Amino acid sequence: MANCNSIQTWGMKTMVLCAVMVCVVLGGCAVRAQDDASRWTLSKDSEAIVPDAKLREQIFRALDAAEHSGNDPRISHFQVRAATVIEKDGQEHIVLGGNTEYDVPEAIHGETSVLNHVTALFGPDATRHLVRFIAYYGHQCGGGGSCGDCRDYQIAATDYEHLLVACGQASDHTVHVSRFMDQVVCEKNFPDVDASKIPLDAAELSRLVKSAQGAELGGVTLFTSERHSGAAGLSFSGRIYRAAGADDAAFHYRYPIGGLLQQAATERDYLMRAIMVAGEVGKWPVLNYRDRQYGYEASSFNRHDGKAPIVLVLTDGQGHYRVTTFEAALPHAFSTADFVPGAVEKFLKAHEASSAQ
Ligand SMILES: [Zn+2]
Repeated sequence: MANCNSIQTWGMKTMVLCAVMVCVVLGGCAVRAQDDASRWTLSKDSEAIVPDAKLREQIFRALDAAEHSGNDPRISHFQVRAATVIEKDGQEHIVLGGNTEYDVPEAIHGETSVLNHVTALFGPDATRHLVRFIAYYGHQCGGGGSCGDCRDYQIAATDYEHLLVACGQASDHTVHVSRFMDQVVCEKNFPDVDASKIPLDAAELSRLVKSAQGAELGGVTLFTSERHSGAAGLSFSGRIYRAAGADDAAFHYRYPIGGLLQQAATERDYLMRAIMVAGEVGKWPVLNYRDRQYGYEASSFNRHDGKAPIVLVLTDGQGHYRVTTFEAALPHAFSTADFVPGAVEKFLKAHEASSAQ
């Protein structure tokens, strides 16, 4: 499992949100930034995470450059300006990223933007081995970690076990550094729970397992291999929805949890009690962070409505279960309920009448 390892993580809040695009290497940045570097100060709890003076300097320079990174958050108006410094053949290079938004809404986020630019300029090996941190410039730090999709991308593209996340807080020029690993929870670390301890009765559990396993037999696996899975969700209204992963030529993968939640939402059945994920019988399913993000957002509706978080269950199909919540599986996450709680309240109120139909 690509995102499973034994490295201990350190607690600490980051800032960030997902960022957006636009990467440029600014030839003049290094000189200008160096002049300003002294204006940044590491927060006390960040000092131990970045003992290397040279690395500190690079983070400060990246923050100075990120301040001027271009972006286009035309929908949310949430600015994400990111940068990193890589050292290649004895030379340091600043690479920028910024978020852009379009249409329904969709977005290219800051962290994927900056990493993609490193790859475009210096190749994938540089992204894998030379990116030691991603720095975000913002007014205030503490907003949360990367979205699930950006976590998947960072796990796939970088030396994520050692990757640092630095947030430069413009309001007081403190820099808050955390480890990307703070945002990672391997499926192996989800608690093993006996069937009798899962907060579902035997019939509900059996229905969910069968439904998820049935979903796993379908989906679209033109390019997907061993990561294919199916998921089934039980709503508070007693209905079950299910979906399987589906890929396509554009590599716009559709995730099983996202799929079942979309079906439930289509029926205006927004509050889910439990979600079961199953892979091939005898194997534990992988739970992508993007799919965790969908579940986290749905679970935030529960919290808003005063209900318990969604119970997230993984099964190996042989009577064994790992049970957690999306809140625990996606630490430092963010949702609409966190940013715009009024919008969630208004939305659910406008749609509640139909949820029992
Ligand atoms: Zn993101």
